[in-house]
Amino acid sequence: MSEVKKVDIAIVGAGFAGMYATHRFRALGLNVVALEAGTDVGGTWYWNRYPGARCDVPSLEYSFGFSPELEKEWDWPEVFSAQPDILRYANHVADRFDLRRDIRFNTRVVAVDYQQADKRWRLTTDAGEVVEARFCVMATGCLSVPNKPEFPGADDFAGTVLHTGLWPKEPVDLSNKRVGVIGTGSSGVQAIPELARLAGHLTVFQRSPVYTVPANRKRMRAAVQEEFRENYTEIRQMQQNNAGGVSGFRPVKSVAVRSPTVLADRAPNDILRLTPEQRAKLVERQGLNVLLGFRDVYTDVAANEVANEVFRDGIRSLVKDPQVAEVLCPVDYGLGCKRQVLDRDYYDTFNRDNVTLVDVKAAPIESLTATGVQTTDAHYNLDVLIYATGFDAMTGALLKANITGRDGLALKTKWEHGPLAYLGLQMHGFPNLFTVTGPGSPSVLCNMLVAIEQHVNWIADCVGYLDANSLSTIEPLPASELDWVGHVNEVAQGTMYTTPSCNSWYLGANIPGKPRIFMPYVGGYAKYRVRCEQIAAKDYEGFQLG
Ligand code: FAD
Ligand code: NAP
Repeated sequence: MSEVKKVDIAIVGAGFAGMYATHRFRALGLNVVALEAGTDVGGTWYWNRYPGARCDVPSLEYSFGFSPELEKEWDWPEVFSAQPDILRYANHVADRFDLRRDIRFNTRVVAVDYQQADKRWRLTTDAGEVVEARFCVMATGCLSVPNKPEFPGADDFAGTVLHTGLWPKEPVDLSNKRVGVIGTGSSGVQAIPELARLAGHLTVFQRSPVYTVPANRKRMRAAVQEEFRENYTEIRQMQQNNAGGVSGFRPVKSVAVRSPTVLADRAPNDILRLTPEQRAKLVERQGLNVLLGFRDVYTDVAANEVANEVFRDGIRSLVKDPQVAEVLCPVDYGLGCKRQVLDRDYYDTFNRDNVTLVDVKAAPIESLTATGVQTTDAHYNLDVLIYATGFDAMTGALLKANITGRDGLALKTKWEHGPLAYLGLQMHGFPNLFTVTGPGSPSVLCNMLVAIEQHVNWIADCVGYLDANSLSTIEPLPASELDWVGHVNEVAQGTMYTTPSCNSWYLGANIPGKPRIFMPYVGGYAKYRVRCEQIAAKDYEGFQLG
C-alpha cells in the first residue's frame, strides 16, 4: 500500500470550485491537495465538449471576481462564451495561480471515511492511494455525473456511442453519418443545430419538447469589456446583492442609448393585462424571449398557460411542417418549470431536409439494436448515437463518492429520502466535511461562479475561525438542517418549479427512483448570502463546534 499523504485540506474536484478552493486555502497557509478524475482543470467545461456547448450567463459576469489582475488581463471573444473559450480561461487561471502543483489529475475518489479517533477524513482513490485531511471539501459539481438511461440491448449497438457530458477530446467525424440524438434539454438544444450541420442525417429522439428562446450571439466589443473593467468593483458588489448573482450592469459609455420606440415596445409586468392581439404583436416584434419578462407568467398558473399558448403559436410559425411543429410544442408543463433553455437556430433546424424528429413520448424507445434504435412503431438505422440525457444532478457526485461519517453513517443512508443539509454547506454526522454549492444552496439557480466563490470564502473563513478559537470541528445541529430543508421547500412551493405537472432534474425527477424533492434554494442568492453571513457573525449559529 502506498504511503498515506497527510494534508490540512483535501479537495475533491478541480472544476471552478476546486480550483478556487485550492487557491483560497493555500493563501491561508494550509497544506492542500485536490483530487480530480479528469486529466486537467475545468470540470463542466473540461467534460462537456459537444458541438454547440456554451454558457448562458454573460462571460464578463461568469468569471472569477477574486482577482482584479485576472479581470484586467483576460479578454472574452463573445458576450456568451463557447466551451473552448471557457476552458481556455480555466487553464489560464490554473497557470496564473500555479494551481496544478497541488492537483492530482486522473484520480477519482472512491471512498471518503471519517476517522473518529483522530477526527480526520480518509480519502481513497481508484488507484488505492490514501489521503488524510482535517477538512474535506467536496467540490464535485452539481452537474458532473452523466445520466445514461439503460435501454434494453444497449450493448448490442455496433455504432459509436457518445454522451454530451463525456464528449471526447479528439475531433468526432460525423460527416455523411446517420446520427441519432436522445434528449432535448439544454445540452440537446445546443447540440442539435450543430449536429445537423455536421451529420449526413440527424434523427432527434424527443421525449419532452422544450420552451427555448434565441440566445444572444454578439461578439464582445473591446469598449464594452473596457467599461466592465473600469467598473468591476461595483459590478462584483452588485452581483452580491442580486437574486441571480448577476449585476445587471449596463454599459452606458460604449453602447448607444436605446431609441424611444424600442422602449415603448417593452412588455408590461403582467401578460394577462394584454389582449391576444397585443401579445401576438409583441412576440412578432421582439421574439419569444419577450414572454420571459412577464412577472405573472411565473406566479399565476392562468397567466402561465396564456404565455405557453403564445409560445406554441410562435413554434407553429417557425416550423414549416405543421405535424413537426405540433410535436415540438410543449403541453405537459409550463414555462418556468425547468431551467430556461437558450438556443441558436433550434426550431429552424427542423426545417432542414436532413433532420427527422421522432416523438418518443408517443412511441417510446423499446430497445437498441445492432444497427440503431427501435421504438414501439419503427426502427431507425444509425451509425452514431448521442445521449443528451443530462445528469444525476446535485446529489449524484456526492453519493457516488461513498462518503461515510461518524458512527459509520453512510451519506447514502442519511439521504435515502432526499438530501438533508444545512445551507447546502454541511451535514450533521459529517464533521469538517463541506460541500460547495450543495443541495439547499442557490447554486444552479444563479450565476455559479458567484455561488462558488461565496461558498469557498465562507468555508475558508470558518476554518480560520476554528483555528483562531482553538476549535477542532464543526457540523450542523440536526434541528438546523431540518429547519433549513423545510425553509428550502417552503419557498419553492407556489412557484412554477414545483407544480405537479413539472418533472425536472431540480426535483430529481429525471432519475428513476430518486426522491422527488426540490433541491436548490429558490429564495435568491443575495438573501442566502446574507443569511450565511449572519450565521457566521453569530459564532456559527445552528452549528455545533468542538
Ligand atoms: P464541475 O465543473 O462539475 O467540477 C466538478 C469536478 O469534480 C469535475 O471535474 C469532476 O470530474 C470532479 N469529480 C466529481 N466527483 C469526483 C470524484 N469522486 N473524484 C474525483 N473527482 C471528482 N452554470 C452557470 O452558472 N451558467 C451557465 O451557463 C452554465 N452552463 C452549463 C452548461 C453545461 C453543459 C453544464 C453541464 C453546466 C453548466 N453550468 C452553468 C453549471 C456548471 O456546472 C457550473 O457553472 C460550474 O462550472 C460548476 O463548477 P464546479 O467546480 O462546482 O463543478
Ligand atoms: P436535461 O435538461 O436533464 O435534459 C435531458 C433530456 O434527455 C431531456 O429532454 C429528457 O427528456 C431526455 N431524456 C432523459 N432520459 C430519457 C429517456 N430515457 N428517453 C428519452 N429521453 C430521455 O439535461 P441537459 O440538457 O444536459 O441539461 C442539464 C442542465 O445542465 C441544464 O438544465 C443546465 O443547468 C445545464 N446546461 C446548461 C447549458 C447552457 O445553456 N448554459 C447547456 C447545457 C446544460 P425528459 O424531459 O422527458 O426527461
